[in-house]
Formats: sequence, structure tokens, C-alpha cells
Amino acid sequence: MGAFGQGDFAKLTIEDIDIKGKRVFIRVDFNVPLDENMMVTDDRRIRSALPTINYAIDEGAKVILASHLGRPKGKPDSKYSLAPVARRLQRLLNKEVSFSYDITGPQVKEAIAKMRPGDVILLENLRFNPGEEANSEEFSKELASLAEVYVNDAFGAAHRAHASTVGITKFLPPVAGFLLRKEVGYLKGVVSNPVRPFVAILGGAKVSGKIGVLENLMDKVDKVIVGGGMAFTFIKAMGYEVGDSLVEPEMLELAERIRTNLQKNNVKFYLPVDCVVAHSMELQAETKLVTTQEITRGWTALDIGPASVKLFSEALENAKTVIWNGPMGVFEMDAFSRGTFAIAKAVADAYALTIVGGGDTDLAVNKAGVSDSISFISTGGGASLQLLEGKELPGIAALKDKKA
Ligand code: AMP
Repeated sequence: MGAFGQGDFAKLTIEDIDIKGKRVFIRVDFNVPLDENMMVTDDRRIRSALPTINYAIDEGAKVILASHLGRPKGKPDSKYSLAPVARRLQRLLNKEVSFSYDITGPQVKEAIAKMRPGDVILLENLRFNPGEEANSEEFSKELASLAEVYVNDAFGAAHRAHASTVGITKFLPPVAGFLLRKEVGYLKGVVSNPVRPFVAILGGAKVSGKIGVLENLMDKVDKVIVGGGMAFTFIKAMGYEVGDSLVEPEMLELAERIRTNLQKNNVKFYLPVDCVVAHSMELQAETKLVTTQEITRGWTALDIGPASVKLFSEALENAKTVIWNGPMGVFEMDAFSRGTFAIAKAVADAYALTIVGGGDTDLAVNKAGVSDSISFISTGGGASLQLLEGKELPGIAALKDKKA
């Protein structure tokens, strides 16, 4: 793999150790959406873990899979069961997957003791036990006692110091899976060594969640495009009226400082020039298209308009690297989805390495039907942002270094 493969990955991976015949605990991120009939509605996170799972099966390991799903508050809650995921995984692997309703204790130990090389078992939602999020030593030890080797392939949970991502690494040799390596390779690669011109597109609700990315990319990026709700804090900070659009008052000063610093660094900074505004977010709400200077009280900007789409698309034309995190508007509602989908298409059309991160943005790219034309779509929202902010993720820091 090239610069965006393993280059920035200093940890041992599952390939570097002997797992033949061993009980291997693989922490995966199967935090997938379920509908009211408990059917998996989007299995991309499950499919992303298949290379590691298949490798472990082919090597003759006894494969113990564990994940969280949703926020069950430390106790069993059937709404968040991973049983439907076991069924979907079984279909994707074309192989029997056992499911254990117990996460720890004699029954799961007995089931694992009966496993043969290549067998697969999925444990129930780790967050049914309060020890998971508390990173409790006792729960970490219990999990570790099920296996001989620990593999972390749960990139989406790597920014959390939980029992199954950090605590367990004290008790088993900890290595990375292929998805984790790929995610870090792309996201760290783009921050440390981007092919320029490098364009960052940020959107979504809040400036506060993404300002760290702008600070970290200050010296590396050539153009910054800001859309979505977060644009209006920047626009207000420049002295314009934004009506009832989303503004974070405590971020006004910092937003203005970052914008002027970027411009001092010769980074081109783009904000929406027109917007779709509405009185409310209701389905039947009256909407109109206005220039950004024309937003008045009583109106909220909920999408970027066509002139902004044109401006942003043109800014992407000579890009060699593009990262995109956060939608351009309230794309969950048809009336405010056009800007996001148009930018998804523009990113997909860019003749560049394109990296999309964040739960909402990958959904938008998928809905726009252009997922296949994006170079890399991250499976982790919070985790991908933290890497773009230049932070170290606890779940990765806890793994064994290559040279150790
Ligand atoms: P984030 O998690 O910060 O990436 O925010 C994603 C959310 O931002 C989505 O659910 C969007 O509906 C929302 N969003 C995008 N644009 C706007 C806007 N102009 N006003 C309010 N919310 C927005």
C-alpha cells in the first residue's frame, strides 16, 4: 500500500502474530442502525470488518467478536441486542455464527471451549454491562479471560477508553485489525502528508465540534469550505445578520480568529453566498431562496443555495486531496437536502483523493448514490474528527508498537 495505506501506522497488526488455533477476541464496530422489526438497515460497518474476520477464520483462529450497539445505559435492553447483527453477519460470511446472550461467565466460556478452528461467535452488546463504558478493570479481565489474543478493529470506538478498547489491552497481547489500519492510514496520511492543493469541506450543526480540525490543518490546507449550520457562526462573527440561523455565541470570537488566521496563511476561505431559509423545520414550512446578506429575523437558513453549490464546486476543481465532514444543510429533510447532495456529487467528481468522514456525511454520500466514487469513507464519526484534529486515540495508543 502507498502513502495512505500503512505508512502512518506504527502498531502491530493481526498479520504480525500467530493466531492459528488460538482464541482471538476481535473488538469490532457493529454499531449499526436497526429498524422497528430489528432488521439491520445499513450493514456497511459489518462489511468493513469482514477482511479481518475472514483472515482470522482462514488462519484457523477461534473468532470471538464483540461490539457495542447504541446507548443501552449499562443494562440489558432488547432494543439494542446484537442478535440481528449475528444473523446478518452469518449471511455475509456464508458461515454459521453463534450468538452468546452472555458476555461473561460460565456459559459463554463453555461455548468458547467447544469452538473449533475457524468457528465464529458474537457476544451480546458490551454496553449491557456497566463495566464497559466505565473501563472497569474487573470487566476488562473477564473479557480477556475468554481469549488468548486481542485485536482491535473497531475504529468507530477507538476514541473511547472503554473496557473492550483499552482496559482489555493490559491482559492480552493487543494488535490492530485491517480496518483500523486502513482508517488510520488514510486519515493520518492526509493530515501529515496531503497531496496539494488540499481542500477541507466542513459542515454540520456545530462549529465547536470541528474548529479543532481547522486549527490542526491551518498550515496544510489550501482551501476551506464551510457550509451547514456551522457557517452562520462565522457569518455572524463577520458582522452580518443571520436571522434565526444556528449560532454558537461562545464561539464567535474564535471563529473569526480562525478565519482571519487561515486567510493570513493564504488559505482561501469559502462561506455560503445564498441559502434556503424557512420559518421552521416543519415539513410544510414555507421556504425561500435568499442571498446570505438577505437573511432576516424570523427566518432560519437550513441549506446552501445553488450559487453556493457552484462556488464550492468550482473551488474543488483543481483539488488533489479533499476531505469532507458534515452536511451542508438539514439533509434529512427533502426540502433542505439539495445542497448536501450536490456537494456529494461534486466531491465524487473531483479528480482527487477524496475522504469522507462522520456518520452523517457517509449517509449523505450514500443517499446521493455516489459512495462508489469516493476514495475512502470512514466508519467513525468522532474518531475520524479526532484524528483530523491531530489527537491520539486511546484505543490505538493502547496497541503494541511495531518496534516494541
Ligand atoms: P454534525 O453532527 O455536527 O456533523 O451535524 C450534523 C447535523 O447538522 C445534521 O443532522 C444536519 O441536519 C444538521 N445541520 C446541517 N445544516 C444545518 C443548518 N443550517 N441548521 C441546523 N442544522 C443543520
